[in-house]
Amino acid sequence: MGLFRKRSAVYLYDPESLSYEKYNPTFRDRVFAFIEYMSTSILISAAIIYLYAQFFDSPMEALLRKDNAMLQEQYELLDSRLTQAFDLLESLQQRDESLYRAIFQAESIPEDIRKSGFGGANRYENIARLPNSELATATTRKIDMLEKQIYVQSNSLDELVNLGKRQEERLQCIPAIQPVSNKDLKRLASGYGFRIDPIYRDTRFHAGMDFTAREGTEIYATGNGKVIYQGYRGNYGNCIEIDHGFGFRTLYAHLSTFKVRIGNQVIRGEVIGAVGNTGKSTGPHLHYEVILHGKHDNPAKYYFMDLTPEQYTEMIRLAVIKANQLD
Ligand SMILES: [Zn+2]
Repeated sequence: MGLFRKRSAVYLYDPESLSYEKYNPTFRDRVFAFIEYMSTSILISAAIIYLYAQFFDSPMEALLRKDNAMLQEQYELLDSRLTQAFDLLESLQQRDESLYRAIFQAESIPEDIRKSGFGGANRYENIARLPNSELATATTRKIDMLEKQIYVQSNSLDELVNLGKRQEERLQCIPAIQPVSNKDLKRLASGYGFRIDPIYRDTRFHAGMDFTAREGTEIYATGNGKVIYQGYRGNYGNCIEIDHGFGFRTLYAHLSTFKVRIGNQVIRGEVIGAVGNTGKSTGPHLHYEVILHGKHDNPAKYYFMDLTPEQYTEMIRLAVIKANQLD
């Protein structure tokens, strides 16, 4: 059925009667004709729109496409900057392990703790649904790892700051100077070790160092600490004992006078008493001991703070050869 018009008559050729006959469409014919006409038009229009969209962007699409390309570029840029940040962090981690932590004798942080990942496979689920999800997921994962590693690193540095403070405190407490003024090392009378006893004339262990000095010469605390003994004690005569913490104690013997009492906090170089000749002593001198973790140690090993390396070597030499013990 072709076109139909409402008012003008339509004649159709009838092959049977070989003549034109007036066509009188029924209402049903008319409805069908209308439907046929409309569906053809819609189909053609849809085909045209579809083809157009295949080859040409709408202005909005073109804009979005451009935005998308820029975002992608930006993502890639961020990704490469993240890689640079990782390199920086890596060199910081290496220095932390091989230098900083080594200096402060801190235990090394295991690699699996420094570089541990995050649990949960669903962590990037939301991102995985995005377009370009691979890039977005990789970048997000990198940022997470960076955050985690920076956190571990910053904890490490905090720990080192504390260790540094403790190290500083330790340095102030170690008995690191001579107990009397002895710049020219003339005062040393006897060193640490086995010596002939000045009174009994037999070989005995000398647990400290003897410094000859006039009676009344000032005696210094050799490191920061707390006075734990002050009084008379047998062969030592008047003596003072200081607890320096970190396992160190020092003892000063044969004193004439005291300048501190039990419980006093003292700092390195503070005058604690004066040289005398009390207890088992053959003349005015200071007998000085360093005790580390309950055992006597050679005091000469600890004078690194007021001696040059040359003086230190000389002191060790003298401490070995001087046999003129005063006890
Ligand atoms: Zn002595």
